[in-house]
Amino acid sequence: MTDSQTNPVASFPPVVVSGIQPSGTLHLGNYFGAIRQHVELHAAHESYFFIVNYHALTTLQDAEALRAYSIDVALDYLALGFDPKKSHLFLQSDVPQVTELAWLFYTITSVSQLEKSVSFKDKVAQGLGANAGLFNYPILQAADILVYGGTRVPVGADQKQNIEICRNLASRFNDRFASADPVFPVPEPYILDEVAVVPGVDGRKMSKSYDNTIGIFDEGKTLKKKVMSIITDSTPLEDPKDPETCNVFALIKLFADDAKREEVAAAYRSGGYGYGHAKKELLGLITERFAEARERRHELSRNTDYVLDVLAEGGKKGRTQAEHFMERAREATGLITTYNR
Ligand code: ADP
Repeated sequence: MTDSQTNPVASFPPVVVSGIQPSGTLHLGNYFGAIRQHVELHAAHESYFFIVNYHALTTLQDAEALRAYSIDVALDYLALGFDPKKSHLFLQSDVPQVTELAWLFYTITSVSQLEKSVSFKDKVAQGLGANAGLFNYPILQAADILVYGGTRVPVGADQKQNIEICRNLASRFNDRFASADPVFPVPEPYILDEVAVVPGVDGRKMSKSYDNTIGIFDEGKTLKKKVMSIITDSTPLEDPKDPETCNVFALIKLFADDAKREEVAAAYRSGGYGYGHAKKELLGLITERFAEARERRHELSRNTDYVLDVLAEGGKKGRTQAEHFMERAREATGLITTYNR
């Protein structure tokens, strides 16, 4: 039987879920590759966005840094337009049902399947310690999605394999424990593939692991220094240049409207336009794009009580939804609970 026969996603209400890592300062790659779409989606669908602090612990074991990054992510999302009246934003660890569900999933996952995980192999190759949390990451990620009955998961193409593990787990759980009345939907990835990879200042993929990022909320001297450090070739100022092979233009393209893009491309091709000019243009575009959000972020950062209230309220909604699915999962697996007697 196919997934759709055993567990049609159509019989579950549409729910969008996404986790955000609080393991570093969010950068332009995160913005164009994920956050911008999250902010669009959260207003249009029932959605649960959570700051995955349990996941972050697999690599970030510094309590002060984890606390600070977690609040930073909340500030970033709220400043960039996430409206807590429209959807739920909360901390992963405020919903303990997620680790409870992860345990149920451990018992139906083979070690060999986890050993094939590309993201685990990548992380170990990058020199990260192969702890059991990192190894089991895709299981917790599946629980993150399914504990809210997630049907759509906006992710980058790099996450496709983990979503496949999640789909397998939902089907396997339903087949094994709840074939007559499926507990979990089999979620669809919503691959954000129209987004090109955003280059970092060194021309490689912008990533906090490469130390080549421009932070969304970098400003002043820091921002200027980073933009000016973007690597370009050594074509002299007066010569014509190919915009399509230039890292600066790749970033300009993300910010500029069609008219501005054409204007800058034409200037590249005609000569007499140096990389310094292009970098100044980019600096102006970044500053302008995030001006309002930056202002909002400054205000919010002076009111962390409000931010914590938003997270607390989101967490309450998250727990209610998670408990609904967990009650059914406990029942289906034969786990007796007596605390509500
Ligand atoms: P990092 O590489 O800095 O650790 P993450 O892996 O935490 O970033 O990225 C979270 C999401 O942000 C990714 O799933 C992807 O959708 C998006 N993203 C990150 N870097 C880029 C980039 N350079 N270009 C496009 N999207 C990106």
